[in-house]
Amino acid sequence: HATGDKIPATLIPGDGIGPEIVDAVVEVLDALGAPFEWDRQLAGMAAVADSGDPLPLRTLDSIRRTGLALKGPLTTPVGGGFKSINVTLRQEFELYANLRPARTLIHGQRYDDIDIVLIRENLEGFYAAMEHYLPIGHDPKAIAISSGFNTRAECQRIVRYAFEYAVKNGRKKVTLVHKANILKALTGIFLEAGYQIAKEYEGRVEVNDRIVDACAMQLVLDPWQYDVIVTTNLFGDILSDLIAGLVGGLGMAPGANIGTDAAIFEAVHGSAPDIAGKGVANPLALLLASEIMLAHVGRKDLADRLEDAINDTVLTRSIRTRDLGGTADTRTLTDALKQRLA
Ligand code: NAD
Repeated sequence: HATGDKIPATLIPGDGIGPEIVDAVVEVLDALGAPFEWDRQLAGMAAVADSGDPLPLRTLDSIRRTGLALKGPLTTPVGGGFKSINVTLRQEFELYANLRPARTLIHGQRYDDIDIVLIRENLEGFYAAMEHYLPIGHDPKAIAISSGFNTRAECQRIVRYAFEYAVKNGRKKVTLVHKANILKALTGIFLEAGYQIAKEYEGRVEVNDRIVDACAMQLVLDPWQYDVIVTTNLFGDILSDLIAGLVGGLGMAPGANIGTDAAIFEAVHGSAPDIAGKGVANPLALLLASEIMLAHVGRKDLADRLEDAINDTVLTRSIRTRDLGGTADTRTLTDALKQRLA
């Protein structure tokens, strides 16, 4: 997108603290002069209350048209009749790459200067598994069976995404994380595809690989050795929460789900029903997600300005919400960010 172009994007307020943090982010993006033209649509419990459908067709149509969405967290009813909307969206739009950056924002915590980007394969592995039980005698669940799959094409696509991301974002190294010593076929195919794709980037981006258990230990002992990590679905799910922990947890963890035709940006945290409606939610995770969204549409200039404003407000001026040890409410932080951008 060229400077000056308006970019249509779907906006899903979501549930719980969703509408509060989405409104805060939209205000800050307006102050930044972000080019998004929002099409507000419902999903989750808000959509159930409105039409009985947690994922209405008009919401899907909107994302199909814009190819771009910023989404507040959605409440998934426990034991309820419908499938996770997040999983449905992922499958519907073939959002194959899950991007989870973890960067230290507030210094002087347990870990300092962390800057890791984790890219997780989103569609295959054990999460696309066919699960079932086999009975023995009177026990209908004597044996549980799960068979996951990884395709060479998908492994190549996710690794290529990781290398392209590295090139575009000035990253130096991509680490392939696997368990090919034990899951020789399932994750061996990923490792093999990984090194094959890496050849195309020789001289531009370094490559190495780690077995997932060793990687988990090193992420705790010496996380600074990592730059971009790319891995299969289940390992990515676990390691992405690990790296969010390195930088202070959920309040600052953004995520993006990216496909060829659509991309959905969100905070990693949920709808926080315990603090919903109180005006104290931390909008930073969703704001950081919108920063990735700006870079995704080619407006790195605006993403950088937003990052400066966040650093200045949250670091230098220490305006922080309670979850980060501060006293600011959502309004105070939002106003401070807007003021800084004005
Ligand atoms: P949660 O992330 O909503 O909350 C965990 C804790 O972190 C709570 O104490 C909450 O107050 C706090 N918290 C989370 N976000 C915060 C923020 N922005 N500012 C300040 N504090 C924050 O996790 P949960 O309670 O396990 O889940 C609640 C609901 O959210 C569930 O229905 C779950 O299915 C859903 N969920 C949705 C998504 C998503 O839509 N992407 C992700 C995770 C959970």
